Amino acid sequence: MELLKQVAVVTGASRGIGRAIALELGRGGATVVVNYLKNAEAAEQVAREIDSSGGVGKIVQADVSTLDGVSRLVAAAEELGGIDILVNNAGITRDGLLLRMTDDQWSDVIDTNLTSTFRLCRSATEGMLRRRKGCIVNLTSISGIMGNAGQANYAAAKAGIIAMSRSLAKEIGRRNIRVNCVAPGFIDTDMTQSLPSELIDGVKQVIPMRRLGRPEEIAPIVRFLAGPGASYITGQTFVVDGGLS
Ligand code: NAP
Repeated sequence: MELLKQVAVVTGASRGIGRAIALELGRGGATVVVNYLKNAEAAEQVAREIDSSGGVGKIVQADVSTLDGVSRLVAAAEELGGIDILVNNAGITRDGLLLRMTDDQWSDVIDTNLTSTFRLCRSATEGMLRRRKGCIVNLTSISGIMGNAGQANYAAAKAGIIAMSRSLAKEIGRRNIRVNCVAPGFIDTDMTQSLPSELIDGVKQVIPMRRLGRPEEIAPIVRFLAGPGASYITGQTFVVDGGLS
């Protein structure tokens, strides 16, 4: 229960990796703001599970790809006493080869993955700076490190998150605020289930561990980074990919 009395915001926490992170932080005793876009029922279920495992769950609908959504989410979390832990997890893909990629495919992915992370970091750090403590964990991807054919938009957003996080860590480290990234490989969620099964079979052949990861295998490192054991770790990116990269 190392996160008791800490307020955590997890974006995109109704499903997949965000859900697993919200539940894990809840098990650590945190009050978790479970953000979602459309799936209210799934978000409510996550909040109930948090309540029954030692934490407190609060759902907040907000589209983090918009400035208004970010402002409402931060305001709701501030009412709970201020954000101690921010996990920028919400993300989407709009895959396609660069030559055929539309401006909308590009901007949807940049807005939801990168601009949301920038705005939430900007907004949440105001309170963190006042309280002289805080921790941010940003979800990136091995696509942002290695590149991936068909994901120029997504890889650019995820690489941007890594560079932005390193810069922010340098700006606010002296105020006792830490910023780190977690870069998953292929994880079994709705995001990867939308990919063709032949592609997934091919990917499994090149992953040393020969399988996709599970959301529950990403959540523990986020809990660790949010907790006291990581008190001297900032500006880093932790890859969790079964050895793929
Ligand atoms: P997912 O299963 O598709 O879930 C996406 C989550 O984000 C849902 O909770 C969804 O809410 C929420 N969301 C989407 N757009 C949003 C918006 N505009 N505002 C607020 N919430 C929004 O995704 P995932 O696979 O768990 O991925 C989570 C993160 O890990 C993403 O940043 C992704 O890029 C990264 N990642 C994933 C993989 C992978 O293999 N799965 C690998 C590397 C990195 P609703 O349920 O309400 O729609």
